[in-house]
Amino acid sequence: MGMREFGNTIRTARIKAEMSQKMLADRVGLSRESISNYERGEVQVLSPAMLEMFASTLGLDPRNLARIAGYLSPSDTAATNSSGMKTALITGITGQDGSYLAEFLISKGYKVYGMVRGQHNPKQELVQAMIPALEFVDGDLLDQSSLVAALEITQPDEIYNLGAISFVPLSWKQPVLTGEVTGLGVVRMLEAVRMTNPGTRFYQASSSEMFGKVREVPQTELTPFAPRSPYGFAKAYGHYATVNYRESYGLFACSGILFNHESPRRGLEFVTRKITNGVARIVAGKQHELVLGDLQPQRDWGYAGDYVRAMWAMLQQDDADDYVVASGATHTIEEFATHAFAAVGLDWREYVRSDPKFYRPAEVNLLIGKAEKAERALGWEPTVDFPHLVRMMVEADVAKEGVTTQG
Ligand code: NAP
Repeated sequence: MGMREFGNTIRTARIKAEMSQKMLADRVGLSRESISNYERGEVQVLSPAMLEMFASTLGLDPRNLARIAGYLSPSDTAATNSSGMKTALITGITGQDGSYLAEFLISKGYKVYGMVRGQHNPKQELVQAMIPALEFVDGDLLDQSSLVAALEITQPDEIYNLGAISFVPLSWKQPVLTGEVTGLGVVRMLEAVRMTNPGTRFYQASSSEMFGKVREVPQTELTPFAPRSPYGFAKAYGHYATVNYRESYGLFACSGILFNHESPRRGLEFVTRKITNGVARIVAGKQHELVLGDLQPQRDWGYAGDYVRAMWAMLQQDDADDYVVASGATHTIEEFATHAFAAVGLDWREYVRSDPKFYRPAEVNLLIGKAEKAERALGWEPTVDFPHLVRMMVEADVAKEGVTTQG
């Protein structure tokens, strides 16, 4: 942060307002040359009155501008924007975490925009029905200019970058697309932040899949990465991009290394939801067996509603940092299935078949995280444990099928 960033910010705002250097100069009472010098970062002195003048002429938040110029620490500006309400932009709003995070931020008084891609995304209507206060903006992590436009339109205080090709098996089928969206998409968003407002706080949805063939147990922020899938190495790229933009440009950019988190809103393609949905369909008499892949991999599973609180808490700190978010317990997929079938009074062994067709080309065998840093620094802790999580998901799926159970 400093006068170069200040210069970049006023130049961007001036261009957006379709104002020439001469027009801006006239309005703030300076020469055109002075404006040019400010924009190049060559003026090192900025009085509070002049800062206010730039902010009001260009429609910028004076506290944010002061922070960019190096007057205030990030925490001084974190409280509110000029309207008294913070604004957040969430990419991946149509995904599991997007909806939980939007609900959480709205409950905290935020104005929340969700970024949607495509001409007509049917999931947008579902999210809108679930969260009426949510607003939408167009954008695609593949399209740099759309991200800049989304940021200019929404002027967010905080960005939560949840958008990704996130289903690991798909990442082997479409590795280049996964790299483009899940990896390079992060850099596109970071560049958009740098271009529009470097004071914006940024959260990157990193993943325990980066630990892959784990180097130590349990995994912490210091555990080396050893990704085992195109998804894993794309996430590692996005993680390092986030760290690098923090270190290179002083962006308030955080990476949350989240272990698996589930909920009744989990996509049907993911194994946990495939199991709970399968259980409900078996109870409803719609299917008679459940075909899964390898049952032995161990995962550290938590509840998505708990994990979005950690995302938010990271962006409220004085300094940007990276945090592991995990439950600290690990279970096999077989254990998940055992609990899910038991919740409706059934024995999983009578219904589940493992088919190598669904095995991953390279498996991640054991994930278990240590969230000590998040617990200490963010005051975060999970509220839903493994048995309750499984039961919650089964009950929601059974209710959708409209059947009663003996569980
Ligand atoms: P999800 O349900 O799979 O949602 C992914 C989201 O990304 C969808 O809203 C999708 O939107 C969006 N998306 C896909 N391609 C895009 C593109 N080109 N531009 C913009 N958006 C795009 O994922 P989730 O479970 O909510 O997870 C949220 C984030 O956390 C993801 O980045 C995921 O990799 C990461 N993560 C998740 C977990 C977990 O256990 N859930 C753990 C660690 C990290 P469409 O509707 O347009 O397809």
